Amino acid sequence: MEFDTDIAIVGGGPVGAALALALRNSPLRVTLLEARSAPAASAARDPRPIAISHGSRLLLERLDAWRTLMPAPIAHIHVSQRGGFGRIALSARDAGVPALGYVVDYSDVFTNLANAARVAGSDYRDDARVSAIHRDGDGCRIDYALGGDTAALHARLAVVADGGAIDGIAPAKVVDYAQCALTARVRAAQPHRDTAYERFTTEGPLALLPFGTEMALVWTLTAARAQWLEGAAESEFLAALRNAFGGRMGEFTQVARRASYPLMLRLSAHADPAHVVTIGNAAQTLHPVAGQGFNLGLRDAWELAQVLCTTPAQALASPDGLRRYRNARRLDRLATAGTTHALVRLFSNDFFALGAARGAGMTLLGCVPPARDFLARRMIFGTHG
Ligand SMILES: Cc1cc2nc3c(=O)[nH]c(=O)nc-3n(C[C@H](O)[C@H](O)[C@H](O)COP(=O)(O)OP(=O)(O)OC[C@H]3O[C@@H](n4cnc5c(N)ncnc54)[C@H](O)[C@@H]3O)c2cc1C
Repeated sequence: MEFDTDIAIVGGGPVGAALALALRNSPLRVTLLEARSAPAASAARDPRPIAISHGSRLLLERLDAWRTLMPAPIAHIHVSQRGGFGRIALSARDAGVPALGYVVDYSDVFTNLANAARVAGSDYRDDARVSAIHRDGDGCRIDYALGGDTAALHARLAVVADGGAIDGIAPAKVVDYAQCALTARVRAAQPHRDTAYERFTTEGPLALLPFGTEMALVWTLTAARAQWLEGAAESEFLAALRNAFGGRMGEFTQVARRASYPLMLRLSAHADPAHVVTIGNAAQTLHPVAGQGFNLGLRDAWELAQVLCTTPAQALASPDGLRRYRNARRLDRLATAGTTHALVRLFSNDFFALGAARGAGMTLLGCVPPARDFLARRMIFGTHG
């Protein structure tokens, strides 16, 4: 059978584009189908901040997609709970890395990776919305709308990196947290000194990340409270934030770029049909409390590229073709999703005994160097740390 391409990547978001880049020097023909029409313009409307781990920086450097990102470094991480004892303080110097992580705009990651994939020669098609993927002979047929027309692409393998948008691709376990993440840029009276704060409050976890002269806020709340705060007057918003976060940064003085995102855990069983493999948010959508979704998706893209480069083209869509990839990713996926889910459950609960257990756990982690180092390495490198 004649194929139009070897690998069709469905979704040109950060993870799909990273895969295209990781395959840039391989003999495989790669076509990327992205639903957005003008990536730079439409992605700019998504203001979520992304914390990138040091391990992800190393991968982005290998993909030649780091230099142009201009990220804000995180030199210290401070974890605490409002109204409870216990805290954890991590520092880049103690961990022996230049920064514990970096903060970037989702829109910058999106455009940077999409542009790098184009420059590297990938066939990146905008305005191409996929509607269905069918098994077809030794490979698959992908139906998509291109502008106003319908089109089909025959590929040996479909890699789905659509963020979980297309229904029915692979069975998945879904937990609806009935929460939203409210994001915004805020200014405070005191400088952040490259410190990221994670504060567990009775309403949910609240993260303040250093971002140039501002701080990027990611605040987990009930949907109703997030909706109210998104539209509240600036003074009401700043007062509510001060009340939840406390006085460590002095008064908050300004807020801009508010947006909210519904939160869920969506974990595909990785029992994908043989001609399809899911990566990034399409394989696992996590709560942002630990800032791991993109970092994990980037590791998916990197490891999948290594397997694709060493698998004979005719075996790509066979039942055993990608078993090596699926087995290799299992531990990282399950450990990261499990830890994130446990954090959400533990820290979204105001029950006194749990508050005391959280405090004791944080004190222990903060005081015992091996435990703290383990935590730091997990945050910096994932399960490979
Ligand atoms: C508030 C918030 C904060 C976050 N913070 C962090 C963080 O600090 N660190 C971290 O690592 N992660 C974080 N994440 C998670 C991170 O945003 C995701 O893990 C990451 O964006 C996943 O990238 P992706 O490419 O898999 O999916 P997406 O970013 O969702 O991209 C999917 C792409 O597929 C395209 N697409 C969709 N449907 C179709 C279709 N039918 N046909 C063709 N294309 C299609 C979309 O247009 C999009 O471009 C956060 C998430 C949220 C909501």
